Formats: sequence, structure tokens, C-alpha cells
Amino acid sequence: YVKHAGKNGYELFVKSMNVVAKRRLELESNLRKAIELNELSLNYQPQIDMQTNRIIGVEALLRWHSEELGFVSPVEFIPVAEETGLITPIGEWVMREACAQAVRWQVQGLPEIRMAVNLSVRQFAKQSLEKQVNQVLLDTGLPVHCLELEITENMMMDDVEGSVETLHRLKALGVQLAIDDFGTGYSSLSYLKRFPIDRLKVDRSFITHVTTDPGDASVTQAIIAVAHNLGLSVTAEGVEEESQLAFLREHSCEEVQGYLFSRPLKADDLAELLGSNNGYIHL
Ligand code: C2E
Ligand code: MG
Ligand code: MG
Ligand code: MG
Repeated sequence: YVKHAGKNGYELFVKSMNVVAKRRLELESNLRKAIELNELSLNYQPQIDMQTNRIIGVEALLRWHSEELGFVSPVEFIPVAEETGLITPIGEWVMREACAQAVRWQVQGLPEIRMAVNLSVRQFAKQSLEKQVNQVLLDTGLPVHCLELEITENMMMDDVEGSVETLHRLKALGVQLAIDDFGTGYSSLSYLKRFPIDRLKVDRSFITHVTTDPGDASVTQAIIAVAHNLGLSVTAEGVEEESQLAFLREHSCEEVQGYLFSRPLKADDLAELLGSNNGYIHL
């Protein structure tokens, strides 16, 4: 590429490399201070039970408002946190804050719901994960069945045996386990039966065109069928339209999450939604 593009192409290439490297450094140095500066917060997106039309859980989603860089998406900063190891303190902060918030809602007298927390590659690979989870549950007082951990297929593929063991140790605590972004990773269906999980989350990329793209419809139907045959429950991510909801209902998907019902909300706004109408969502 460099050879054919000539000198100008090469300079452009170097320049864009510099832009990328500079942004990466800025993210890293600012992320280092993010916890102490109180720049991290969590938003909570409702998950709705299709049988009861009720909020049955929420997913905690990390937000970073950097004083220097402004709002940065987790899609951009989580990989940086992952590479630098900063995900360890950040991930621990997320787990603690999410569990503490779930308890605050319970203390306020709101209906009990599940709290789903995303795990990162490094967190999942850590030997001490199960101890950490247990400690957070003890410290915050959140009933163990209220916590759900989301992992992705790819996190488990490097070391399938080790992952199966980790999942069993987590499951033994009593937490719920979900596979996030299902269908986009590299896992083989044959592994699925070995994972002691509770739920598959169908990735948003299949749901977006589920009513117009026969391929996406087939994949979604197949995921639901496999899940049900293995005794797992299914959550569809990224539901934005009524027609998608109708499709999912017709195919017996248990739970839905997406902008059609709610964007990720601040804790107080979620509490208001959960408190009004006892958590029933008009579908
Ligand atoms: P995810 O775990 O798959 O989370 C779902 C993402 O889809 C969220 O993006 C959510 O805001 C978005 N979403 C939900 N419903 C809709 C919809 O109807 N339409 C559209 N267009 N988007 C929808 P967000 O919050 O930007 O997070 C992106 C990813 O960053 C997450 O994907 C997750 O992989 C990662 N992430 C977020 N918070 C954490 C965290 O605390 N720890 C770790 N390790 N990763 C996190
Ligand atoms: Mg997730
Ligand atoms: Mg997802
Ligand atoms: Mg995703």
C-alpha cells in the first residue's frame, strides 16, 4: 500500500497513525484519573418480560464524561481500558456501584429486579473473579439471585476448559449468567451445552433487520430455538420497532431490551419508571 500510494500516501498514512496514537494516549492518561475524578457513572437500561410486560431487570452501562475529552463512548474506551489493565479497577467499580444501586432501589421499596453487569475479557480471566463477586455481594447486601453477569462468546474461546470451570464457580455462587452479543462471536454451538448459563442475548445486529432480512430472521429464530431446546431463556437486544417486537413475540422470545421501551437511564429516572405503574411498561 505504502509503495503504490507514493510519498504522499505514505505521509497521509503516518499522519493518520499519529492521530490514532495521539487519541489513544489522551484516552489512556485521562482514563487513569477517571475514577478519582468521579467521571464514571452508570446508566441502566430496562429489560422487559414479554409475558408480564414488566421490567424484570436492567443492564448497567458505563458512561464516562471526561473533563478534558467530553463524553467518550464505552465502545471507544473499554478496549483502551482492557489493553492498559485499567479495566481491573474500573470493572470492580462498575460491579460495586451496580450492586449498590440495585440495593438502593430495593430499600426505596421498588420492585425487585435483576441487575446485569458486563464483564470484560480481563475480568473474566482473573482467578479472583468469583471471590470479588462474592465480596461485592456481601458488602452491598444484594441478594445473589439478583445479579446477572454478561460475558461474550469470544471471551471463552481462548480457553474453553478454563471458562467452563469459571462459569461453574460463578454459577455455584448463585448468580445468573448470560451470553451477550450472541451470534456474532466464534463459539461453536457444541460448547453451548457445556456452559452453565441461563440466557442468550441475541445481538442487535440481527434484530435491526429481523423483519426485512430473511437471513437475520432465520438466525434469530435459530438462536431462539437452540436456546429453548437447551433450557435457556432469550433476551433480544436493540429492539426499536413494534414490528420487531411482534416478530419476537411470535417466536416466543422471553425478554426484550431496546430504545422502543427505553434508552439507558440515570438511576433516578429508572427508579421513576420502575415506581410508576409498578414497573409495567405499556407495549
Ligand atoms: P452491550 O453490552 O451489548 O450493550 C448494549 C449496547 O446497545 C449499549 O450501548 C446500549 O446503549 C445499546 N442499545 C440498547 N438498545 C439499543 C437500541 O434499541 N438501539 C441502539 N442503536 N442501541 C441500543 P453502549 O452503552 O454504548 O455500550 C456499548 C458496549 O460497551 C456494550 O455493549 C458493552 O460491550 C460495553 N460496555 C458498556 N458498559 C460496560 C461495562 O461496564 N463493562 C464492560 N466490560 N463493557 C461495557
Ligand atoms: Mg451487555
Ligand atoms: Mg450486547
Ligand atoms: Mg454489543
